[in-house]
Amino acid sequence: MKYKRVLLKLSGEALMGTQNYGIDSKRLKEYANEIKDVVEQGLQLAIVIGGGNIFRGVSGAAAGMDRVQADHMGMLATVINALALQSALENEGIYTRCMSAIEMNKIAEPFIRRRAIRHLEKGRVVIFAGGTGNPYFTTDTAATLRAIEIDADAILKGTRVDGIYTADPEKDATATRFESLSFKEVYEKGLNVMDMTAFTLSQENNLPIIVFDMNKPGNLKKVILGENVGTIVTN
Ligand code: UDP
Repeated sequence: MKYKRVLLKLSGEALMGTQNYGIDSKRLKEYANEIKDVVEQGLQLAIVIGGGNIFRGVSGAAAGMDRVQADHMGMLATVINALALQSALENEGIYTRCMSAIEMNKIAEPFIRRRAIRHLEKGRVVIFAGGTGNPYFTTDTAATLRAIEIDADAILKGTRVDGIYTADPEKDATATRFESLSFKEVYEKGLNVMDMTAFTLSQENNLPIIVFDMNKPGNLKKVILGENVGTIVTN
């Protein structure tokens, strides 16, 4: 394996599968199987999951809600997704721990860095819920922050596109995929990898970002093995 410890970022929308809202149990099971495959190889895996399939703070604010209140709702949405993912992983026999940035001791452990690392060392998949615990941030930033805190080798951004393209491949048929890019190139070309807060945090802390298609079976394992899947962004 090329990587020993990674952080996998999944968007909330990914959990919708073919639905327009909420959680698709079939998709969840597929992800759990992909994850099982790499954990059984001995990979230390932490996961951050978004909440966009349930609620986004910016949408709430656009509809007239107080932004901070709306972001609190968004963070709670990530907790719902984290619990759903935890359940799906446990159904596959994977040991997991869910740690929340917002304390809610009945349903998740509080995030304690040293404890998170200990779980990983013991082979447990750690799901970080509740984003960063602060409004005005995204789960991409939460994922980057946690990846740095647990000293992950890379952040794996599982999307429905198999990497970073010269243009949006869903709109432009001539778009081609980059195998690798530097942070500087991404910035200069105006490519969209993660929001700028998350992006600069990765850059400043030398955390490689790998964008890959999580919906293609076997892809997660290929990334871990260092195969040419997706796009890697490094300094
Ligand atoms: N959120 C937040 N602080 C964080 C992470 C998330 O306030 O540190 C809120 C924010 O409202 C966001 C929502 O949670 O819209 C869901 O997260 P995100 O949009 O990143 O989910 P994704 O797009 O990955 O599904």
